[in-house]
Amino acid sequence: MIGKPEEILKSIFGYDSFREGQETLIKSTLQGRDCLGIMPTGAGKSVCFQVPALLFSGITLVISPLISLMKDQVTSLNDLGVHAAYINSSLTEGQYRKAMEYASYGRYKLIYVAPERLMTELFLELARKIEISMVAVDEAHCISQWGQDFRPSYLKIVDFIEQLPKRPVIAAYTATATKAVKEDILCILGLRQPEVVVTGYDRKNLYFAVEKPKDKLAALLGYLGKHSGKSGIIYCSTRKAVEEIYEALLAQGCPVVRYHAGLSEAERRKSQEAFLYDERPVMVATNAFGMGIDKSNVRFVVHYNMPKDIESYYQEAGRAGRDGEPGECVLYYSGKDVKIQEFLIEQQPENEELGRSENALIRERSHERLRRMTFYCFTNECLRDYILRYFGEYGSAYCGNCKNCLTEFESIDVTEDTRVILEFVQSSGERYGIQAVVDGVHGSESAKVQKFRLQQNPYYGVLRHRSLVRLKQLVNDLLVKGCLDLTGGSYPILKLTVLGREILYGEKVQTIVLKLPKEREAAQRK
Ligand code: ADP
Ligand code: ZN
Repeated sequence: MIGKPEEILKSIFGYDSFREGQETLIKSTLQGRDCLGIMPTGAGKSVCFQVPALLFSGITLVISPLISLMKDQVTSLNDLGVHAAYINSSLTEGQYRKAMEYASYGRYKLIYVAPERLMTELFLELARKIEISMVAVDEAHCISQWGQDFRPSYLKIVDFIEQLPKRPVIAAYTATATKAVKEDILCILGLRQPEVVVTGYDRKNLYFAVEKPKDKLAALLGYLGKHSGKSGIIYCSTRKAVEEIYEALLAQGCPVVRYHAGLSEAERRKSQEAFLYDERPVMVATNAFGMGIDKSNVRFVVHYNMPKDIESYYQEAGRAGRDGEPGECVLYYSGKDVKIQEFLIEQQPENEELGRSENALIRERSHERLRRMTFYCFTNECLRDYILRYFGEYGSAYCGNCKNCLTEFESIDVTEDTRVILEFVQSSGERYGIQAVVDGVHGSESAKVQKFRLQQNPYYGVLRHRSLVRLKQLVNDLLVKGCLDLTGGSYPILKLTVLGREILYGEKVQTIVLKLPKEREAAQRK
């Protein structure tokens, strides 16, 4: 080995010191120990395999799922004078052969490869010929069916490694690993006594808030008015919404650009540059925007629609405040957002490489993640704490820098109401969704009530003195608290949890408290 990691970091990459986690991961890899790095986006995962790659005698294979990501990294490595190449479906046959030929002469220190390529004849032939010192698995959560973007081709990594004459060091990296995903990565990749490094997910400089505006556009205009001159991103769930908001903001004279997959590459590049260089510092985009973007002075990220899961939300929201200065992450929730996401999950094409039951399982897990996202919008507890817990970290119950921590709540005893709702769910056989149950206890004569004959339930109309809004709030709160559970695909059904049963039948009398924001409280008391 020539040189030290610190020297490479400085001389090639131009950084003075390691960031949290980098040194441990780099040094362990260099000692031949498998690694798993779980670090938030922007923490600097790439350096963790790029520095060792320059110190190992052989080649480092980097497995990456995204062509754009590979291109970006290879371009910046080449700019730094490091020989690197990528091999994926964007290459022509001629380019591909040339890259493989250069690779076989040992011209590259790093080769980025798409997982689908690994088990092809040509690639295997190359892999057996060259010395591979390290296999770096980027976006390693793709190997898990618990994760948000499971890629069956990631499972081929294991077969591929088995084909090699000598087992290289294996290192995996991801920004989004819940406990289940982490276990999958360790187990499926077969990491041996790995060094696992998890760096803090908490971004203390970010403020979190959930708003439920009746008129989202008006709320957005008001928000932008208060933040004029600052750079921010507004995420929408559809291209159509991007177009609408973009037009509306443009009409107000806002320095805005847009970005989604329906625009030509030239247009997207233009928008991106105008945004990056602060010519037009407000970006309206779908989630197609942001991968590999490194703009440090983004001051706010507004989600005009609720995203599909906390993983996506935290990644997108986390694009605010990269420079460590204060940033705001605001989510505009509406019930329609949930419907859109449910629809999108159902529309997901089946993965042909998988069987039916596996596809059903993946779909169910997507619904489950969506529910956890929805609960985020309903919790009255600390939002940061909610997110950190989701990723298996423990925050403090009070962060002091999210809307819920800064709102004064009043606690109302809802023990009796809770019991009625639970009884209603129980005595109607745990077969109905939120709306039907709310309508039922409220004594509404809605279509659902008629259809399911809920008038016959002994608890029908017992809570007619409470408003529908308040009842819905309570049911959502019971879900967040874990007294009730929602299960089943696009028509989720309310069921009692163990905790719910304890409230109904347990010996100890439990008091259930609903927290309501003080200023709105008067209107919603009923
Ligand atoms: P990730 O893959 O974790 O999202 P990247 O590897 O793309 O993050 O790195 C994010 C940014 O941090 C890049 O601009 C990179 O140049 C920078 N960076 C990484 N390591 C360091 C370091 N030790 N010192 C300063 N900047 C760093
Ligand atoms: Zn908080």
